[in-house]
Amino acid sequence: MKHDGNDKRPSRKASGEGHHRHHDHPGRRLLDYGDLRLLILSLIGQKPRHGYELIRAVEEQSGGRYTPSPGVLYPTLAWLEDGGFAVIGESEGNRKTYGITPEGRDFLSANRSALQHLLSRIERGGRHGAPLAVAEAMDALKTALRSQLKRPDVEDGAVERVVAILHEAARRIEDGAGEGMEKRNRQEMSTDTGSQNEALPVIERVKHELRRRQLTVVDVQRLSPAMIRIVLGGDELQGFASLSPADHIKIFVPDGDGGIAMRDYTPRFFDPVKRQLTIDFAVHEAGPATRWALSAKVGDGLQIGGPRGSQIIGGSIAAWLLIGDETALPSIGRRLEEMQAGVPVSVVAAVPDRADEQNFETGARLDMHWLHRADPTDAVPYLEKLKTMEIEPSTFVWIAAEGSVARAIRRYLVEERGHPMPWLKASGYWVQGKADTVEKFDE
Ligand SMILES: Cc1cc2nc3c(=O)[nH]c(=O)nc-3n(C[C@H](O)[C@H](O)[C@H](O)COP(=O)(O)OP(=O)(O)OC[C@H]3O[C@@H](n4cnc5c(N)ncnc54)[C@H](O)[C@@H]3O)c2cc1C
Repeated sequence: MKHDGNDKRPSRKASGEGHHRHHDHPGRRLLDYGDLRLLILSLIGQKPRHGYELIRAVEEQSGGRYTPSPGVLYPTLAWLEDGGFAVIGESEGNRKTYGITPEGRDFLSANRSALQHLLSRIERGGRHGAPLAVAEAMDALKTALRSQLKRPDVEDGAVERVVAILHEAARRIEDGAGEGMEKRNRQEMSTDTGSQNEALPVIERVKHELRRRQLTVVDVQRLSPAMIRIVLGGDELQGFASLSPADHIKIFVPDGDGGIAMRDYTPRFFDPVKRQLTIDFAVHEAGPATRWALSAKVGDGLQIGGPRGSQIIGGSIAAWLLIGDETALPSIGRRLEEMQAGVPVSVVAAVPDRADEQNFETGARLDMHWLHRADPTDAVPYLEKLKTMEIEPSTFVWIAAEGSVARAIRRYLVEERGHPMPWLKASGYWVQGKADTVEKFDE
């Protein structure tokens, strides 16, 4: 049986109306009970938790915008328990721990798409407020329409007036929603730290449906001695979405031991018409992904998964500084190609040799610095170069390289150059001596 997260079973009343704590819009509904039940069930599905942990987890997931009160949470847990979806497990002191039952898992899987939708709504709303605020505004609109038009004594001309207002709203949204929202985001994200009224960059997180796709190699090129470009095609690319150059997909390749290894790669270029996805593989000595790329030929199959989500960096960014080794080049190249004309971008890219330099087609105002380095774990060439460079205020810095290199560059920029942390994102795309390892510094 497919359960609806909003259905009214079981009988115990989930009361507590008015006890939700909304930090931005008191009195307005942010999650309704059906939403909260699904969310709580998914949280205890990850691991058993007690009430206080659940309150904190919901608060964290909503970016601090919503904290369920105990008066809302406990009736929700009671509803789940009564329905056989949750069970009280071991107690920690006098705190009860709630876990999920097999029926709870069935319920989650029957409502998987509702949950996905809910998580993306909470996350997007939690970070910026925009989509959630839109949902809330639509709720307010529905209430206003009901109260105005469903009354027995509807005034003459009320319907025409409402219709005219709605048409006008639609027209104004079409004309300037993007601009308006961006301005609002900038205002919301402005901070007292640093210079007064200085806006922070906006990072929008968008979740995608997670799907595995079976693709076929349609082209292989040796882009440079240290880089292989592989184009994959297939109808299963229908619906593929990658919204940010910093996205990654998982590729599934033989691990050389009879099993399958997963590795992260950047969607370098996607052609939705031809249904072709390009990936650039940096060549190094070991590793199943590199081995697969080195021997790939037209007609070979490759399974990919993701991207799971995209982090879109925007807001009032005055300039970009992109730093990395050859594993970062696919993302850097894509960002340059997708960048608006005239945007100032500096790139510091380290490759083994001059022959590994690449040309990027970009309208951006590009200041390109190639470094040739023998040791990919040596941060010194990057630091030497960066010491000679000016970094304007409101420059967004993106770093991806070997873990210790990314850490050293990040530390130099933050500690010695005083670059503000919200203006920087650094990752170790690989770690020397460790297979399949990523280091994240800013999550
Ligand atoms: C978000 C993200 C996006 C990425 N995008 C790309 C991309 O588009 N193109 C790309 O080439 N890489 C990319 N990488 C890096 C790639 O995932 C790693 O290099 C991965 O470890 C390669 O897998 P492998 O099977 O070849 O080697 P592994 O089995 O993971 O590692 C085997 C050994 O090789 C070493 N090693 C791994 N990578 C390198 C390297 N580049 N140079 C020298 N030694 C290495 C490891 O330290 C280990 O000792 C990305 C990583 C992340 C996190």
